[in-house]
Amino acid sequence: MSRTTTDALYLVTIVTFILALRFLSSPKHARKGNWIGAAGMALAIAVTLAQTGVGNYPLIVVGMLLGGAVGLVGARRVKMTAMPQMVALFNGVGGGAAALISLDAFHRFGGTFSTVEAVSIALSALIGAVSFSGSLVAYAKLQELISGRPIVYRGQQVVNALTIGIAVVLGVWIAAGGDTQGLIYGLLAAALVFGVMFVLPIGGADMPVVVSLLNAFTGLAASATGFVLHNNMLIVAGALVGASGTLLTLMMGRAMNRSITNVLFGAFGQVQASTGTARVDDGRTVRATSPEDVAVMLSYARKVIVVPGYGLAVAQAQHDVRQLAELLEEKGVDVVYAIHPVAGRMPGHMNVLLAEANVPYDALKEMDEVNPEFAQTDVVLVIGANDVTNPAARTDTSSPIYGMPILDVDKAAAVVVMKRSMAPGFAGIDNELYLDPRTTMLFGDAKDSVGKLIVAVKAT
Ligand code: NDP
Repeated sequence: MSRTTTDALYLVTIVTFILALRFLSSPKHARKGNWIGAAGMALAIAVTLAQTGVGNYPLIVVGMLLGGAVGLVGARRVKMTAMPQMVALFNGVGGGAAALISLDAFHRFGGTFSTVEAVSIALSALIGAVSFSGSLVAYAKLQELISGRPIVYRGQQVVNALTIGIAVVLGVWIAAGGDTQGLIYGLLAAALVFGVMFVLPIGGADMPVVVSLLNAFTGLAASATGFVLHNNMLIVAGALVGASGTLLTLMMGRAMNRSITNVLFGAFGQVQASTGTARVDDGRTVRATSPEDVAVMLSYARKVIVVPGYGLAVAQAQHDVRQLAELLEEKGVDVVYAIHPVAGRMPGHMNVLLAEANVPYDALKEMDEVNPEFAQTDVVLVIGANDVTNPAARTDTSSPIYGMPILDVDKAAAVVVMKRSMAPGFAGIDNELYLDPRTTMLFGDAKDSVGKLIVAVKAT
């Protein structure tokens, strides 16, 4: 295939990647976006394989089949609540691949590089290896193979500075033309160690933000690899991943009111010990309710807002929630869903979950759009959500989530909170909302409770 044809086809793939990102930004078109991106990637692989001097085809096919099978089975089997660790794992192997390509290139052509190639090799080895080992630690934390708490020890900063320092010195050496094989092995080893050390002190609660940052790293490593392989498509695709990962990291930080420096170096994010009960020492009490009472409230409401959270994903109650909403709509109730940007455990978690249950996209409202509507709402059904509804974020300057934008559910006429107990959510703090006189608690597993509500609504 001529260079011009190759570049023209690569340009097509780049356009598909950009379109895919565009479509992925709305739940309505996300599925289409995925297909467009996958088609673009298939074309990119085909064009790359059609180049002369690619190498051992049977070996490549075996590798692709093995990798494809693992990916397919993994993606089909993964539970929605385990998505963040799946993303961490996929991301890690991307970084690892970039690091391996630089190792291979250094092996074969060491000493004959241009400065751009040498710098790219050093960068892709360094960033790719950090992303690989860091993502594996993130995976292990999220999967609870190791403690999700920040792992800190004396002199940690010094050890971290030393390992990254060694990696950078070796990288500069390679960039300056060093061609001893030991340089690249040393660089990879130091970067791998740094990846582990860098993620260990970060708490489990911050892991999704870290995974998104590591995702940006992998993009940059892939982009650098593109310079090594003289592959324009890889340069642009890597840059797209790098840019979108960086934006996502910043957006998640903003939605949790945390700066990225605070996430990375604050050793915060550990699940704090909680009393497990709401404070009742000021005379306010928590009021429990029954499915029948809630059914009456819902049936006579004009407007109901459903606030889904992590607990809804755990209980897999999305289909039941859609059924309940449809029943209410048949009774003339206006039902919408309020989606907080970090409800659940990863960005877009709730959108994906509800889309899976065929909830109409136009019923899903983002936080800024829905917040002014709570004051005109008769009943808010908070289903397995906690932190994203905590008014302390607005009022209590001493709260760890102070400043985090929240859904203003407490402005509604009545709030029904559906969860199993008074246990806190991810941030490990009590929720003032549960003591509000307008709030009642429907205790139980979200799927069970919604099922009971369906029966009770049908009976009213
Ligand atoms: P929370 O973690 O605050 O609360 C979830 C609630 O669900 C818990 O209080 C729990 O209470 C309840 N629950 C658990 N299982 C069930 C069940 N089977 N049935 C009914 N209820 C259940 O979730 P939110 O979605 O409100 O908030 C997300 C949190 O995650 C925020 O703190 C956010 O910062 C954090 N986070 C989110 C990220 C994202 O991108 N989405 C990224 C990083 C962090 P109980 O045990 O009593 O049932």
